[in-house]
Amino acid sequence: MAMILDGNALSAEIRTEVAADVAQLTAATGIVPGLNLLLVGEDPASTVYVRNKSKDCEKVGIRSIVLRLPAAATEAEVLHQVRVWNADPSVHGILVQLPVPKHINEHLVIRTIDPNKDVDGFHPENAGRLMIGLDGFIPCTPYGVLEILKRYSIETSGRHVVVVGRSNIVGKPLAMLLAQKRPQGNATVTICHTGTIDLAEHTRRADIVISAVGVHGVITAEHIKVGAVVIDVGINRITLPDGTTKLTGDVLFDEVSMKASAITPVPGGVGPMTRAMLLRNTLTSAERVAGVKQ
Ligand code: NDP
Repeated sequence: MAMILDGNALSAEIRTEVAADVAQLTAATGIVPGLNLLLVGEDPASTVYVRNKSKDCEKVGIRSIVLRLPAAATEAEVLHQVRVWNADPSVHGILVQLPVPKHINEHLVIRTIDPNKDVDGFHPENAGRLMIGLDGFIPCTPYGVLEILKRYSIETSGRHVVVVGRSNIVGKPLAMLLAQKRPQGNATVTICHTGTIDLAEHTRRADIVISAVGVHGVITAEHIKVGAVVIDVGINRITLPDGTTKLTGDVLFDEVSMKASAITPVPGGVGPMTRAMLLRNTLTSAERVAGVKQ
């Protein structure tokens, strides 16, 4: 039976560390880290995400402001708000909750955020920095996965990692980070996606399988070699035979955990780590402004 990689416990540890570092920064410099969140429209899931992110901030001493704009807000109004926050020195992190309504160009919104305040790590400058190994902001989900590997002392150097999924926010940055010559890197990385002919043929050769797909059951016991580490990024809501719904990952947890050496559960794995790393990125931004961190 696989060891459970407990994202709830690790994220609590990280929040405690961030809270201590926030207190120290504020005591030494007077700077209170600030994260401003913009929510456009009333999507229920996005509303919950933004509320949770704001509550997380409060708990660690990060000031947070949530601004809600109606779904009919224009692109110009959204860009204007981002620019106001870019110019405000009390704002260290800017997060526009995605997706934005279809009439607003998401890429333009992301490009308008000051890269030094882009704590989601989605701006092309931060994506480029990540690609060539420079400091920037690592997107929160890949960052959370790296922290799981680090804090559970899971060796990546020289090992074969298969990342399933190539999105700009999870699969691609994660694969790049794991392939680089860095801690929690130096791995041989294979990226799989819908163009992959035989997924199981690749994943069965992996020491570490990371699934970021969004399809429940895409990873079964057949996809895993005995003793592999399995990180499940997927979040899917499935309907059970009795009509109730349940949150699950991409991985068939019960059968895969009989074969793997370690596995993240869903919920309670990568999800809480993503939230914790947003706090870490916001603090890092404030520390850079204070000149105490590069
Ligand atoms: P995207 O939909 O942007 O990307 C999914 C990727 O999976 C694509 O590259 C797609 O390939 C690939 N894919 C889809 N179906 C298959 C398949 N059958 N076999 C192999 N590859 C496949 O999703 P995200 O990266 O944004 O998110 C992935 C999952 O992670 C979702 O469930 C999301 O909810 C979850 N998530 C969880 C987070 C957390 O904090 N735990 C944070 C962010 C996301 P192609 O490129 O060819 O379309």
